[in-house]
Amino acid sequence: MKTRPSSLPCRQAGIVHRPSLKITTLATCYLLLATLLLGCQQPQLYKRSQLLIGTTIEVTSIDSRAPEIVFARIKEIEKVFSKFDPDSQIYQLNKLGALQVSKEVIDLIKKAKFFNQISEGAFDISVGPLVDIWKQAIKTQKLPAQSQIDKARKLAGMDKITIEEKNSTIRFKRKGMNIDLGAIAKGYAVDVAIEALKKAGIKDALVSAGGDMYCLGTKVGEPWNIGIQHPRKPYEVIGYLKLANKAVATSGDYEQFFILDNKRYSHIIDPKTGYPADKKVISVTVMAPDCLTADALATSIMVLGKEKGGELAKKFKDVEVRILTNDDVGNN
Ligand code: AMP
Ligand code: MG
Repeated sequence: MKTRPSSLPCRQAGIVHRPSLKITTLATCYLLLATLLLGCQQPQLYKRSQLLIGTTIEVTSIDSRAPEIVFARIKEIEKVFSKFDPDSQIYQLNKLGALQVSKEVIDLIKKAKFFNQISEGAFDISVGPLVDIWKQAIKTQKLPAQSQIDKARKLAGMDKITIEEKNSTIRFKRKGMNIDLGAIAKGYAVDVAIEALKKAGIKDALVSAGGDMYCLGTKVGEPWNIGIQHPRKPYEVIGYLKLANKAVATSGDYEQFFILDNKRYSHIIDPKTGYPADKKVISVTVMAPDCLTADALATSIMVLGKEKGGELAKKFKDVEVRILTNDDVGNN
């Protein structure tokens, strides 16, 4: 750990201001004063970022080892869970429709099933084909054909994903299904990175994956200060959260979207309709004991709306939510 000298308390710095000393003694005193003043400064924070799992991973800590530990662990996660790397288990599962997978894949899909059940289907990783259609629509700024949506909607539903624990196999019941872990992967990655930091004995760090983060310990004795982005003004912050040993994740309709005939179509899909979530919620921030829960709940609440989403959050211990609707900040 890189630290600055701080063995003497700041208030003793006055000791060096004695008159009638020789120049050499004075120089020594100035050196001592400089050392003491440096010692009074806050310890240096290391802040580094890297593009991984399709987002920016940012690490802040007074421990210089923290960034490398986080990046190395998230690279391992990417190798397993990437939807785009042909060597990853998720890519192969999506391609083949059945695959013997590692325990961590089974565990994450089980968690996804849990959030699917508790959100009454609002959270659904089997929306993969719908996500693909709407990502294309966002690119081209054109609505997809209804027939295309209907077809993809028939492929959604987590009852069509079987977990065979005995032989560690995940199996899709319909051809053409694919899973998309975009709503849970960032939170999961943050949690495993935090575990790796704890294992290395690091007690204070902020790990963020595209804004979904965990505040481990404190920022030099104070809670981490987290700004919440204004959903309609990207450079404005609408409020701050002071967090220690807590996760926070935000979902919003402003991350990826297009506007057609005055209507906004975002990347968060309501599995029931096959269309982007349309319950007037524009941003949801969830604070939770772990980042996976915060991530999964934020997406679920975007789909469920303020009332039902608020009820869902109440089912969880130590979870707090901030839900912003169109009415709070104005339309579109
Ligand atoms: P987030 O930013 O965490 O809200 O995640 C949004 C991403 O999750 C989207 O870009 C899709 O990849 C995926 N997704 C969209 N709708 C859903 C949904 N209803 N349930 C689960 N994942 C979804
Ligand atoms: Mg999410």
